[in-house]
Amino acid sequence: MFEFIRHGNTVKVTATDTPTLTEISIICPAGSSRKDMETLALRRLDAFLVRQAEQARAKGYEGQPCPACGKYTLKSSATRVKCDTCGKEMRF
Ligand SMILES: [Zn+2]
Repeated sequence: MFEFIRHGNTVKVTATDTPTLTEISIICPAGSSRKDMETLALRRLDAFLVRQAEQARAKGYEGQPCPACGKYTLKSSATRVKCDTCGKEMRF
């Protein structure tokens, strides 16, 4: 999901990862093509999501977002996965 906001001779591109509601923004020159801006924003968003997953794993969480709230706070035990943020539980 993309949003483009023009400010003078720059464009602010906001990309949103829908499942996790993660948002990042980049600033591009106003002359950039829409496709270039989308590619750049997506790359930045992917890198951000990878970093979030790494940070989650470093804290002992699963490197996957919770399907209910989108936070990287899933903890698994032998029989289930539980989200520390919203408390959603899933059984294997
Ligand atoms: Zn959750």
